[in-house]
Amino acid sequence: MEKKTGNIKRSTGLILIAVILGVLVLISGIKWFFLWQENTALKREISHLDQLIDVENTQKKNRKDEFLRQQEEYLIYADAEEELIKTKEKYFAMASELEKKIRNGETDVKIAYLTFDDGPYLLSESFLDVLEEYDIPATFFSLMKCSETGYVEQDESYDRIYRRIIENGHTLGNHTASHKLGEEGIYQSLEVFMNDLLRNRRFIYDRYGYTTTVMRFPGGTGTAYRIPEVKQEVFKAGYAYVDWNAMTGDGKYSLPPEEYAANVLNSTQGKDILVVLMHDYSRNTLIALPDIIEGLQKQGYIFLPLFHDSIMCISD
Ligand SMILES: [Zn+2]
Repeated sequence: MEKKTGNIKRSTGLILIAVILGVLVLISGIKWFFLWQENTALKREISHLDQLIDVENTQKKNRKDEFLRQQEEYLIYADAEEELIKTKEKYFAMASELEKKIRNGETDVKIAYLTFDDGPYLLSESFLDVLEEYDIPATFFSLMKCSETGYVEQDESYDRIYRRIIENGHTLGNHTASHKLGEEGIYQSLEVFMNDLLRNRRFIYDRYGYTTTVMRFPGGTGTAYRIPEVKQEVFKAGYAYVDWNAMTGDGKYSLPPEEYAANVLNSTQGKDILVVLMHDYSRNTLIALPDIIEGLQKQGYIFLPLFHDSIMCISD
């Protein structure tokens, strides 16, 4: 009996141990399962991070390559721009020498500066075509033609014309942004005038990278002198200004092309340096332009674009 009880006790002990062992195995199994799961997730995370780092590195490399490419391109353009500025300076220095020789009576050459005001207009393209055909440079005293000043739908055409003026070696002059005359206009005060003028300069520079250094007052100096200090302020802003000593008359009268041409060609007497006022909105001036060019050439004139230090520009 005692032996039986002893056996039962031992078996119960063994079962208990087996159960405890079983529970322990189960617990460590579960623990292992969770660890394994965590480990797999971690590995997945690490490989994802690796991928991200790879992508990041590739992007970094691409960005660096792009930066180097742009820098190289920029240096090429910067060089070209510097060359262009030097060439222009040389060109204008020679033009300045020629003006002095003319004024000293050392040469028979005469200079005509053709100037076109108030543009660009869509018609300006045709003016540029004629100038290109004769291979002569001119000066365009332009306004601020863009959406900001109400020319929305023609922005792109204007862009093309502004660029063509600059690229073809013409001088782009500043004729104020708005050209607004009258009581509420640009001449109501010095401040209003300078704001309008500099607004156009900023526009041309920001949009086309071109610095204007020659300007013409809307209505000419006769109108502008209503503000006594205006000249000094214009000089301080780095500008030289210019009027004209010949014109087609297209700003005032609507005349047939031959009369526009005659107005210019008959007013050259005693003028060895000519500044011709025209407007690139006038169809009749466009028709007259070849006759004006050929007529002036016959009279011994060569054509140049205006520049800051020209005898005809006032800069101090
Ligand atoms: Zn004008």
